[in-house]
Amino acid sequence: MTSAYTGMYACQQKATVGGTEKKKSLGVAIVGLGYYATDLIAPALLQTEHAHLAGVVTGSPEKIPIWQEKYGIKDQNVYNYETMHRIADNEEIDVVYVIVPTALHTKYAVIAARAGKHVWCEKPMALNVAQCQEIIDACHKNKVKLSLGYRMIHEPNTQALISYQETKPFGKMTSVLAESSYAGGEPQGWRAKKAMGGGAMYDMGVYAVNAIRYATGMDPIEVVSARHIIDRPALFKEVDETTVFQLRFRNGLVADGFTSVGKPNNQLRVDCESGWYRLAPMQSYHGVVGERSDGVQMNAFVENQQALQMDNDALAIINDTAVKCPGSMGKKDIQIIESIFASAESGKSVAIA
Ligand code: NDP
Repeated sequence: MTSAYTGMYACQQKATVGGTEKKKSLGVAIVGLGYYATDLIAPALLQTEHAHLAGVVTGSPEKIPIWQEKYGIKDQNVYNYETMHRIADNEEIDVVYVIVPTALHTKYAVIAARAGKHVWCEKPMALNVAQCQEIIDACHKNKVKLSLGYRMIHEPNTQALISYQETKPFGKMTSVLAESSYAGGEPQGWRAKKAMGGGAMYDMGVYAVNAIRYATGMDPIEVVSARHIIDRPALFKEVDETTVFQLRFRNGLVADGFTSVGKPNNQLRVDCESGWYRLAPMQSYHGVVGERSDGVQMNAFVENQQALQMDNDALAIINDTAVKCPGSMGKKDIQIIESIFASAESGKSVAIA
């Protein structure tokens, strides 16, 4: 495993390709030092080859010395939300990774783009399609790349499943089921607030929606039905605990989606004319594995999903190639989620424009 310091050293190294100097490792500033940043992303940045933790943006001064000591972050690379725009002048920071509550993604992604830094934005992209478009426009206008933090799309067993759209090992798809949930979730803080992007559908359901799209390679045209279920009303006053939905594609295929923070289902299953395949679990941090009805196993090992995701995203910047999870992907998922909410509210099917 590399250390933060070897990561910083790598930053100094540059390769010359086609006469242009390229960094081998990009400096990343994390915005929002909460659970995901602290427990998953910062440790993963010690394992990445093409990205390293160079800076932080935080509203909590007490976190600064802890992060500086652990990751060797320089004083001049520490920002708060008011000073964050000054990252524009910091050559050690190439990418800003937005890991704040969902309702705040747009605000900080736009500040990062305006500072001329590439943007990595956590899932779900934003609260609504208009906010997603704002992020896309800011990145486009400022000529920076935008990647969504959909770690599953980088995961090799998920990639194998995605490839079956083309190879069709069991013929035409007949049904799809995506369940992304965990049990025992008790929403606190922003996760309990609708206006902040709390609730099962935004937090976990986005994986099911995204999985239905990557499994089929198609975008649904209709929410056939959707329903929210609250089993623990004392805990879920504003947001959904469980949401069940059905999506229909232009070719008639129907996909069932399930998401919950009260029940533990976690699988992506595709049934076809002459067999089936599935991933279970389909979106855990570790141990995403799959099987097929012909006995073939999907069991490639990934040491660290987040490191893989960030290395891929960094390479897309370094080599100026397309990112795997662009803003358009995040925006479409949010459009579908908004339509699922509209269907649950009206009790009717909703066309997805
Ligand atoms: P946390 O609540 O643990 O952390 C969010 C951090 O954002 C806070 O600690 C705080 O950092 C900062 N923040 C800024 N403004 C606010 C505010 N008004 N209210 C609360 N926090 C604020 O959330 P998570 O880390 O669990 O989630 C953050 C994002 O990451 C979400 O979008 C979530 O969906 C996504 N996520 C993605 C996962 C994945 O697997 N891809 C897994 C988990 C989360 P500070 O004190 O430094 O200012």
